[in-house]
Amino acid sequence: MATATLQAQIENGPTGFSGIDGTPEWAAEVKRLAREQDATILAHNYQLPEIQDIADHVGDSLALSRIAAEATEGTIVFCGVHFMAETAKILSPTKTVLIPDARAGCSLADSITADELRAWKADNPGAMVVSYVNTTAEVKALTGICCTSSNAVEVVASIDPDVPVLFLPDQFLGAHVKRLTKRENMQIWAGECHVHAGINGDELTEQARTHPDADLFVHPECGCATSALYLAGEGHYPADRVKILSTGGMIDAARDTNARQVLVATEIGMLHQLRKAAPDVDFQAVNDRASCKYMKMITPAALLRCLIEGKDEVHVDPETAALASKSVQRMIEIGTPGGGE
Ligand code: SF4
Repeated sequence: MATATLQAQIENGPTGFSGIDGTPEWAAEVKRLAREQDATILAHNYQLPEIQDIADHVGDSLALSRIAAEATEGTIVFCGVHFMAETAKILSPTKTVLIPDARAGCSLADSITADELRAWKADNPGAMVVSYVNTTAEVKALTGICCTSSNAVEVVASIDPDVPVLFLPDQFLGAHVKRLTKRENMQIWAGECHVHAGINGDELTEQARTHPDADLFVHPECGCATSALYLAGEGHYPADRVKILSTGGMIDAARDTNARQVLVATEIGMLHQLRKAAPDVDFQAVNDRASCKYMKMITPAALLRCLIEGKDEVHVDPETAALASKSVQRMIEIGTPGGGE
């Protein structure tokens, strides 16, 4: 079917683009358009299965940003949420970075604005700002050091003990870091991701009781799993059965595990890659309602429209990008930022 015929089927509604299924015909057209436009398609682990399957690379946000920076193609199509595409743009300023639907936001990144951070800093002169990667470019530009959940403890521990720390935006990751570093002069912003709301202590305790032989995999690179990270640390699940893993580590552990069943505490999109890696293992979501509506806005229709129209382009003004790049580079230099595919 010709591009124009497919394009005519795309519908744009308040919750995103629809009207196209992820058929082989759609896949062939997406591949053809990507080649024609010298574009590489990157997909986050929480994307819809058909988007993951058509992507050139699948991974978490940091791994994908690094791949974007190293890609030989001139255009990056980032299938994920907006702050992730911004981070890719910060690390590859000379490339064209497209996101199939710029409305794909993130409730965690949106929980603090640049103005709110400016005011918090003004109330705490001399403090060091540590920001989780789920933040906008503007917030990163006002940050001293960014962190991932894999290196957040090391980042905070690297700061002079006499310097106060402002940690944002995730309160669960902040509480986890404060508990491990025993740092008193650390304030935590009260932000959270809406997806993790369903993963609570009672639920984890109940899962441990009813699945006595199952391992628990926690992939902490997105805010939806930070409450599980926090609760596992509080003893709601036997410590020897909890595995905190990056994407690459989780896929390797899936292939290596002796457990017949694995409970997965993260956004449910991750189950697609795990089941592909280890078809004999029974992977179950700790919370099957943990689905990010923003991630799922990158539909087959949105991706096709992106390649046909060259939209939506992600822009970060050069001054903001230069400042944000410094805080991201510091993050990469400290400890193990994780994010390996
Ligand atoms: S799962 Fe949560 S933290 Fe991740 S993109 Fe969605 S809203 Fe943001």
